[in-house]
Amino acid sequence: MRILISNDDGFFAPGLKALVKAMMEIGEVVVVAPNKDYSGASNSLTLDRPLVVHQHEHNVYSVNGTPVDCVHLAITGLLDVAPDIVVSGVNNGANLGEDTIYSGTVAAAMEGFMLGLPAIAVSLVGKKCEHFATAAKVARDVVLSCKDIVKQSPFLLNVNVPDAPLDSITGTRITRLGRRHRAEGVVETKNPRGQAVYWIGAPGTVKDRSSGTDFGAVEGGSVSITPLQVNLTDVSVGERFDFLSR
Ligand code: MN
Repeated sequence: MRILISNDDGFFAPGLKALVKAMMEIGEVVVVAPNKDYSGASNSLTLDRPLVVHQHEHNVYSVNGTPVDCVHLAITGLLDVAPDIVVSGVNNGANLGEDTIYSGTVAAAMEGFMLGLPAIAVSLVGKKCEHFATAAKVARDVVLSCKDIVKQSPFLLNVNVPDAPLDSITGTRITRLGRRHRAEGVVETKNPRGQAVYWIGAPGTVKDRSSGTDFGAVEGGSVSITPLQVNLTDVSVGERFDFLSR
């Protein structure tokens, strides 16, 4: 199995190292990752400058672009042989509920999915994020378990792993995305010239952690696996806008 690995925390992130180590046990690994931290980059593509690829060693590349740039470039031009699966992570922090919309980790996997491949995003859930090896081993086992369906049709899995030793993980749950409350406000501060500048504030606290959600699973000490789709159509309220139809 040929495994393309990327992330959004950047080429030097410890989560990427842990993931590469675990995936090398089960397949041929190719790394194409951003050369800096692109957390929160979502599905952005770089269209106003060329992308430069730096080869570090055989099958290991960094790119001066976003996570989606990396996966797009890898699959549509850089690699001679297409990968069988894309794995993104291990992200330094949760990608639960609405986080998935902003996440570069999820977006890198989603790009593989949109280009017709199975793809898995892996994130470590915790304040300190110490147990990247746990999440990497979970990801390895998920890929192994999916081995037989990899060739069938593309899928996109969002995997969140509690930041804990592997033997204290209580199980694996197939989940739906939960919800957060609206995000905290921006944080205003001053630059050295006295001008007001702003930091994007913290994500909202958890609103829906009910049974069956991703938040509920990780808070119960389990791995959360949420199958994702890309189509954003809200079929449930389509009729409400019939009045706009001509
Ligand atoms: Mn990140």
